[in-house]
Amino acid sequence: MIAIKGTGRFLLKNCRIWQRRVSNRPIQSRKGYKVLAIETSCDDTCVSVLDRLSTNTAPTVLANLKDTLDSIDEGGIIPTKAHIHHQARIGPLTERALTESNAREEIDLICVTRGPGMPGSLSGGLDFAKGLAVAWNKPLVGVHHMLGHLLIPRMATNGKVPQFPFVSLLVSGGHTTFVLSRAINDHEILCDSIDIAVGDSLDKCGRELGFKGTMIAREMENFINQDINDQDLALKLEMPSPLKYNPSRRNMLSFSFSAFITALRTNLVKLGKTQVHELPEYEIRSIAYQVQESIFDHIINKLKHVLKSQPEKFENVHEFVCSGGVSSNQRLRTKLETELGTLNSASFSNFHYPPLDLCSDNSIMIGWAGIEIWESLGLVSDLDMCPIRQWPLNDLLNVDGWRKGQL
Ligand code: AMP
Ligand code: ZN
Repeated sequence: MIAIKGTGRFLLKNCRIWQRRVSNRPIQSRKGYKVLAIETSCDDTCVSVLDRLSTNTAPTVLANLKDTLDSIDEGGIIPTKAHIHHQARIGPLTERALTESNAREEIDLICVTRGPGMPGSLSGGLDFAKGLAVAWNKPLVGVHHMLGHLLIPRMATNGKVPQFPFVSLLVSGGHTTFVLSRAINDHEILCDSIDIAVGDSLDKCGRELGFKGTMIAREMENFINQDINDQDLALKLEMPSPLKYNPSRRNMLSFSFSAFITALRTNLVKLGKTQVHELPEYEIRSIAYQVQESIFDHIINKLKHVLKSQPEKFENVHEFVCSGGVSSNQRLRTKLETELGTLNSASFSNFHYPPLDLCSDNSIMIGWAGIEIWESLGLVSDLDMCPIRQWPLNDLLNVDGWRKGQL
């Protein structure tokens, strides 16, 4: 029997079955190893191949593919369509990634997203990865999707990687979470959304203003930045500061983003601007700017509140990570750095972001998180692990299916 230390309790696992299955040489005794990584938690089917040449340098990316479900007509992701999309795309994408990387016979480790996410979507990648693990007799790591976002800035090639302890603002289409990480398996959630995620809110507001695409908030940012002079127009919106004025909720360490869509609609009615397709570009730009600004202000206000309310937690924390699709937004980055860089309660000297192409969902971050779990904790996953719809980061190891692998 071996004991695996989780954040809150110990998991005991009989590892005899696993030892029988892993008959290959231990991965770390070799010079390097290759990783196949799969991500299917939402609407992106992603497959990549990483070459972990040495533990001193970032892995080389041999292939990196992504195929996103087209939901433009639906105006949102339909879970059954996402499930079918992954079922259809995961085979051809993996085939292509293995061909492009020339690593078909050489994969040593398979990393796949286990959760959180839509169970139907997750199973599209997870079941496929299990099949490959059995066929190739290779170990499998079931990765936490948000851990992928959180750890990916540590894969930087320039040597400036965030070291523990650090805080992370994870801002995506499905999550808005502020986390204090003390180790790979030690995360404290400091602030979370009580309703929808920031990306979802930006996308819904953007759709209301006539933007289209699979990344509406990105389209909106590009449009806003086309002419920054339009921001200061007299067209003034009244946008909310959620959880601020209700005395019973003012001190809640939570985000809330659902009110922005209703507020935008109310403003459009009040201003007599409901026919958005008839508005001149400069008016739409002004409205979009104020919507984006109010949503980011809410994030900043809540982060300040968290940092001020428990300063003792941040005494030795000087690194700030911002990751997830929304972290590619330049305005958000500027606001974080100018407003949080010099607080009395905390002082962050380094702000880290993933490269732009790794901000939103991708499988490289899943491969990298799997590598960190494998190399730091020596853990792999059982073949009977199932998708986990809701999986708080602070419960990373408090789920079934982890066992010691051979190192
Ligand atoms: P993810 O869930 O991490 O894949 O991120 C997707 C979300 O990020 C979607 O809501 C996108 O609209 C949003 N997003 C992508 N690029 C930007 C950007 N430049 N500014 C704001 N949001 C963005
Ligand atoms: Zn994500």
